[in-house]
This record gives sequence, structure tokens and C-alpha cells, in this order.
Amino acid sequence: MEQVFPGNWAFMLFGLIFSITCAQMLVVYVLADSSKPPAGLGLYTVYFMASLLGWIALTLQQNADVQMAVNVPSVMLILNSYILFMAAGQRAGIALGRVVLGTICLVACLCEFFLPPGTMFVVQGVTVALFFVGTGLTCAWRSWRQRNIGDAIIAYAALMMTIGLPLAIYYHAGTANPARGEAIAFGVYSAAYAVVAIGFLASVLIEYQQHLSNLATLDPLTRLLNRRGMEDALQISIAQASRRGLPTSAIMVDIDHFKQVNDSFGHETGDHVLRQVAEIISRLSRSSDVVARTGGEEFLLVLPDTALDSARLLAERIREAIGARPLLVDSQRIAITASLGVACIVGHMNLADLSQEADRAMYLAKRGGRNRVASVEHKPVHLSNTAR
Ligand code: GH3
Ligand code: MG
Ligand code: MG
Repeated sequence: MEQVFPGNWAFMLFGLIFSITCAQMLVVYVLADSSKPPAGLGLYTVYFMASLLGWIALTLQQNADVQMAVNVPSVMLILNSYILFMAAGQRAGIALGRVVLGTICLVACLCEFFLPPGTMFVVQGVTVALFFVGTGLTCAWRSWRQRNIGDAIIAYAALMMTIGLPLAIYYHAGTANPARGEAIAFGVYSAAYAVVAIGFLASVLIEYQQHLSNLATLDPLTRLLNRRGMEDALQISIAQASRRGLPTSAIMVDIDHFKQVNDSFGHETGDHVLRQVAEIISRLSRSSDVVARTGGEEFLLVLPDTALDSARLLAERIREAIGARPLLVDSQRIAITASLGVACIVGHMNLADLSQEADRAMYLAKRGGRNRVASVEHKPVHLSNTAR
């Protein structure tokens, strides 16, 4: 059968790698210009550049028949794999194992000077597979933590390498066909490189999209939800409450005389108080409760499937916890108190009505002297259908 590819196939592959790297560099260039470049961008850039250099060296060695005193492509491959491992670690915020694997990388590179090519192929394969195991574990962990499929794609590339390289070593050392082993290593590494490039781009794009979504639904100061985030989070609970006639309670928390805190101690201290109150409310609420910062110094908790009495108990606990933790500023104790309004609607309800009721109750607490809990109950009206 006639050969589909001419003898200089390595040049074609080099062209492909070159194109992928250029496209990646363009994206990296744009990202690096942003005010907050994505984590790991620097090391991933080094990885893409170093991989390109490796392919150039390989193409020169294989096709242009350039004689090299040291097997440069092999050394580049080991170095690249280590750089990728460090890039994955930087992106995931993990520095574990860098020194140990760095030492292994150095030793493996030095082996190039005194080991025969056959043995070196095994050393290179084992070392690279080891780095890819590290990369795969790191990316899988990040993917799971950040809910980012892009990192899972990089982990998949690492899996390809950790399966492909032992296979390549087996063919290279264990059979009479060492060229097949080299071809497998070559193929699996090229494929992994392309998959890493796709994974990295996907990871960065997903992270950016998550960031935009957080901006729209999270309060940047306290990291609690804002009103819009709360509406999104409550959609299912509201539908369930309507369908099954369940009670839904809400607690509105408003810090007392907060303007005075700002005026006397500064805005920074005021922000600190807001974060402290947010932390107390989050700590005391259950995982099924939805907590949001709905105004400057106002917080709203919505408690699905919770009756008024239980909501009042929680409100009382929150009030006590806020009052029990005065803020220390320059060894001065600032007493913080809050007024809380509790409301409950049984069955069909919407967030606007529920929060209005809780707000009404909160104003009753303010009028009652502050640092207290007040409640209102909204009961559905039952009409008899036997008209007279
Ligand atoms: P009351 O007991 O009646 O609730 O009095 P108050 O002073 O707490 O209420 P008021 O509505 O008069 O003042 C709210 C203050 O909250 C005014 C505003 O400067 C402050 N504020 C709003 N948002 C922020 C913020 O993000 N950070 C800080 N530090 N202060 C804020
Ligand atoms: Mg207020
Ligand atoms: Mg207030």
C-alpha cells in the first residue's frame, strides 16, 4: 500500500505542535494582560514553550540528521514533564513533592550523559510517567475541588501518559521491535500535549465563567450570597414548600447603630464587623438554610421547612452570639448588637413577601428598643366553600 504520509512526517507533526503552541501563546498573551492573571499561567507558558523547543530538537535530530552530543529531545521531555507537574501544582496551590521530584528530574537528566540509549529510554519513560502521575493527581484534585472539567481533561492526558509510557517501555525493552516502543512514546506524548493544551484553555475559561457568576451572585465583602444568589438558591425550596404546604421561615438581621461604628472607628472597622457578623450567622445556620447579605448592614436567612418557633430559637441564638463577641479595636471593646425580625409563611410564598414580613418584624424589634427578636406569623386563610 502506498504511504499516506511522506518520509518527513515529523515536520508535519512539528507544524501541528507549532500551531497549537502559537494559538496557546496568543491566549496566554491576552490573559497575562488582565488585572488578575489565572494561577499557574507562568509555568504553563514555560511548559508550552519548552515543549515546542523539544519538538524542534526532535525534528532536527530525526529529519535533518543533526548530530547531538546529548539526546536533547529526551532531556527536554524529562524537563517538560517536571515543569508541567509544577504548573499543575501552582494552579492548584499545592507545593507538595516539588523538591523530591525536582531531584529525581535532575538525576534523570544527568543519566543521559552516561547511560546507553536503551537503558536511558527506560529511565526517561519511568521518570516522565512519575511526573505525570503527580500531575494527574494534582489536576484531578483541583478539578474535584473547583468543579472544573478543564483540570479533569489535563488529568486525562496524564492518565494517557501513565498507561502509554509503560507500554512503550515494554515494547522497547521486552520485544524485538524497539522502534514500536519509540513510536508509542512519541504518539502518546504528542496526544497528551494537545490534550493538556485543550484542558488548560478549558480550565481557564471555566474559571473565568465561575468568577463572573460569583460576581453576580456573591457579596465580595462577606462571601455570602447577595439577593440574586439567594433567589437562585431558593428556587427548588420555594417550589417544594408550595407543593407540599411546608412552612418557610425568614430571619432579617440588622446591626444596631452601625453608622456610629463607621463614624467612630472608620469604614475598615465597619467592614470587619460585617465580616464577623456574617461568620457568626453562617456558623449557626444549617447547611439547608440560605444566608445572604441583602443590604449594607442587613442579612437575611431563609430557613426552608422550618416553623416559626424553631426560627425564633435560631434568631435568639444569633442575637446572643453577636452580642457576646465585642470587637477589639486598639484595645477598646466595641459592643455590637443586632435587631432581628422573624417571619414564617406556610405553603405557597415568594421571597419578596417573606423578606418584607421579616423586615416588618425587624422594625418592630428596633422600635421595641433594639438588641431583640420580634416575629410575625402569616397564616393562610381557610375559607369554607359552603356559602349561605
Ligand atoms: P439602626 O440601629 O436603626 O439600624 O441604625 P444604623 O446606623 O445601623 O442604620 P443606618 O441605616 O442609619 O446606617 C447604616 C449604615 O451602614 C450606613 C452606611 O454607612 C453603613 N454601610 C452600608 N454598607 C456598608 C459597607 O459595606 N461597609 C461599611 N463599613 N459600612 C456600610
Ligand atoms: Mg439597615
Ligand atoms: Mg442598622
